[in-house]
Amino acid sequence: MYDFLIVGCGFAGSVLAERLASAGKKILIVDKRDHIAGNAYDYYNEDGILVHKYGPHIFHTNSEEVFKYLSRFTDWRPYEHRVLGSADGQLVPIPINLTTINKLYGKNLTSDEVKDFLASKAEVRNPVLTSEDVVLNTVGKELYEKFFRGYTKKQWDLDPSELDASVTSRVPTRTNTDDRYFTDTFQAMPKHGYTEMFRKMLSHKNISIMLNTDYRDIIEIIPHQNLIYTGPIDSYFDFCFGKLPYRSINFKFETLNQEVYQCTGTINYPTSNLYTRITEFKYLTGQAHQKTTIVYEYPTAEGDPYYPIPRRENQEIYNLYKKLADQTPNVYFTGRLGTYKYYNMDQVVAQSLTLFKKITMQAMSDVQ
Ligand code: FAD
Ligand code: UDP
Repeated sequence: MYDFLIVGCGFAGSVLAERLASAGKKILIVDKRDHIAGNAYDYYNEDGILVHKYGPHIFHTNSEEVFKYLSRFTDWRPYEHRVLGSADGQLVPIPINLTTINKLYGKNLTSDEVKDFLASKAEVRNPVLTSEDVVLNTVGKELYEKFFRGYTKKQWDLDPSELDASVTSRVPTRTNTDDRYFTDTFQAMPKHGYTEMFRKMLSHKNISIMLNTDYRDIIEIIPHQNLIYTGPIDSYFDFCFGKLPYRSINFKFETLNQEVYQCTGTINYPTSNLYTRITEFKYLTGQAHQKTTIVYEYPTAEGDPYYPIPRRENQEIYNLYKKLADQTPNVYFTGRLGTYKYYNMDQVVAQSLTLFKKITMQAMSDVQ
């Protein structure tokens, strides 16, 4: 008899497996894929280059708790991601910053001057409700067209006006020369890769792992007291309120017989090509190798569910599932797919640590 059957070996499921196992619970964690680590899975390709199977994953967080927790399972390599965007035949920093404006417009503005420049371009939106509002409100139409409209259409197959403000709000606008993609306090990559970190997290005597297994095939035959589910919530309930839409991506990997391909980790192509961005893994991993591997991301509607799509009508469907989930005893839903939230890795870790505390408190109050 297992105390917990956990569906999904990604961050959401693995953090809970580790926490509960360390608290003395017996865990069976299953994944339908043939590997652990969920979408953070990385591996050495046939040329010996460490790549991320499900697209570039860069770790960043402001949470000391999350960073300290993961540090039990890995050492880190400091890494600050930098992105350039292709516009008007040039490569310029993304997020838009002082350098972006000066390069694009052939100017030599100071920080204060660029604030005035952007204010003169901005189209005030009040309230700011959509992803279009966010960008027009800060940088105006021209920069919106250059960097956001086409990229967003490719990524989501929606106009920014059809997406919640939270989507483009992920990308700030800066008036200084800081060209890092993220400004979080902790920015680092697991020194030996994500999969290795997960391996350490899951190597506990109380944890059994079953790969290549859809939980539906074993749920009736493996006795367990509780279920933790990190797959798509609509699928768990047999789509009884309809399908929740997700965005998927086709990843096209290329290994080149040269040491370096591009001048930074990621280059975004907002208005040209069918792919959104190209990432060169060696920047992320720090690996030295005579060859290099890059990945192109082609967004698509079909395929593995990678991105929940933040917009009101989808949230309304999710709310129906959430209500049902809350009424389902001994089953907990968490993670990016289990709670239909556009979460980064650190947010998923934080969510699972919180759920662990909730489960522990519940168990204590049941005993009393
Ligand atoms: P997942 O990792 O998706 O794990 C869920 C697991 O459940 C999967 O392995 C799946 O196979 C399994 N499963 C589903 N259904 C079943 C079933 N029926 N039976 C058995 N198993 C099942 N975050 C960052 O912080 N930084 C980044 O740079 C970053 N880049 C990203 C780039 C891309 C292209 C994508 C798609 C995501 C990126 N993320 C990034 C987000 C990150 O991938 C997620 O936050 C995180 O991996 C979510 O973890 P999870 O455990 O919730 O879900
Ligand atoms: N975005 C954009 N142009 C860019 C970068 C981002 O339009 O050059 C928008 C786009 O809608 C994207 C969102 O901002 O989906 C969030 O970007 P982020 O880089 O955080 O996406 P992720 O890494 O999660 O795919």
